Amino acid sequence: MLLRHTTDKLIERSALTVNPAKTCQPIGAMYASLGIHGCIPHSHGSQGCYAYHRSTLTRHYKEPVIAATSSFTEGSSVFGGQANLLQAFDNLFTVYDPEVIAVHTTCLSETIGDDIPQIIRKAEADGKIPKGKLVIHANTPSYVGSHVTGFANMVKAMVTYLSEPTAHKENHINIIPGYVEPSDMEEIKRLTDEMGIKSIMFPDTSNVLNGPQTGKYRMYPKGGVSVEDLRRTGSSIGTIALGQLASGPAATTMDTKCHVPCEILDLPIGLHGTDIFIDTLRRVAGVYVPDSITNERGQLLDIITDMHQYFYGKKVGLVGDPDQLISMSRDYLPPPNFLAEAN
Ligand code: SF4
Repeated sequence: MLLRHTTDKLIERSALTVNPAKTCQPIGAMYASLGIHGCIPHSHGSQGCYAYHRSTLTRHYKEPVIAATSSFTEGSSVFGGQANLLQAFDNLFTVYDPEVIAVHTTCLSETIGDDIPQIIRKAEADGKIPKGKLVIHANTPSYVGSHVTGFANMVKAMVTYLSEPTAHKENHINIIPGYVEPSDMEEIKRLTDEMGIKSIMFPDTSNVLNGPQTGKYRMYPKGGVSVEDLRRTGSSIGTIALGQLASGPAATTMDTKCHVPCEILDLPIGLHGTDIFIDTLRRVAGVYVPDSITNERGQLLDIITDMHQYFYGKKVGLVGDPDQLISMSRDYLPPPNFLAEAN
């Protein structure tokens, strides 16, 4: 199988990385789940997957990341993980009292073929989900896509499970920030606030994974989009989704389910991308761009001008997720005929 991809001749590659910098879907789903206030991400698989994903997020953000696992053993690997997941609902709601449990699958449970919606329905019928509490799920088979796909699937699940369709529209917009860092989400919210726009951002990991040092451990930090706000996303006048791969599926699902029209943009990285983002905010929300933002834009333009002599003509290598690379290289892409030749 692998030999099929091995060429006869050794080809030196100078501008291409063959091994992509990616990991499996569940870690993206876990990160997205942490952007809901009071949510425990739950990995439906063996302990190894959960430990790997949780520790990777903990190491990266230097924050205690919470998550749970179905702890598959040999028995569940053969007979399926329903009993484990039902037991997990019991334990988690009793001991940790989350608002939401967000279940994502792994290679193992996907290969077995566990039917998570059926297990959730059984848990509801058996009274294992307390009144007012929620369980949502996303299928995240790790042999398809990457961490970005897992993130996109979990954000889409938030819409599928929680957004409520209504004919009554309110004067706020949805923002799906894409697979970006908590501080990026904070900045997107700041710009939106600066323009006087009411928005609901989901997921929102700011103040969850970049919280202040208070000396006290909070299992559920104050950040994250609330379940109540997620329900209200169906009454927004529009959705702005940033990043085609990470946010596109949720935005189109929102459009189909709740008739909230969406605009899917590249990430607002750099002058051009930020211009498009600000202009779309202005148009969708029907507001003016305030002087404060025009001033910031001018300052950025000034920095670009001041620094051009250091960067002119330089070549750089970029590594990142597709959504980020498209946005970072947008202004510097070679003409289309070059790309066609390269392919
Ligand atoms: S690739 Fe599969 S087995 Fe490996 S950590 Fe991811 S979900 Fe688990």
